[in-house]
Amino acid sequence: MSNHAVMKAKRKTAKAGAPETVELFLNRDRCKGCRYCVEICARKTLAIGDEMNAKGHLLPKVVDGGECAACGLCSMICPDFAIWLSSEDEEA
Ligand code: SF4
Ligand code: SF4
Repeated sequence: MSNHAVMKAKRKTAKAGAPETVELFLNRDRCKGCRYCVEICARKTLAIGDEMNAKGHLLPKVVDGGECAACGLCSMICPDFAIWLSSEDEEA
């Protein structure tokens, strides 16, 4: 099984031509469940869920109906490069 999870959130800021959803990728093996990504997200898009990785860390997930501003803060704060956005390259 892939160690990558793809989590989709509604895009908060609608730019012309931009996709309506943001894809957040999570490398399950790298995540240590530190919650930094959850805490920094001003939109409350992320929460720690009940899925655990092989090391016993609970993984973040997109909350039901979660809206993402594609700000990239969760990926910037993650000490383990475990979470990132599909749109980061497009919007750089
Ligand atoms: S990109 Fe920004 S809004 Fe989206 S989940 Fe990460 S911190 Fe929250
Ligand atoms: S900041 Fe990174 S390591 Fe910490 S819970 Fe979020 S994805 Fe996992």
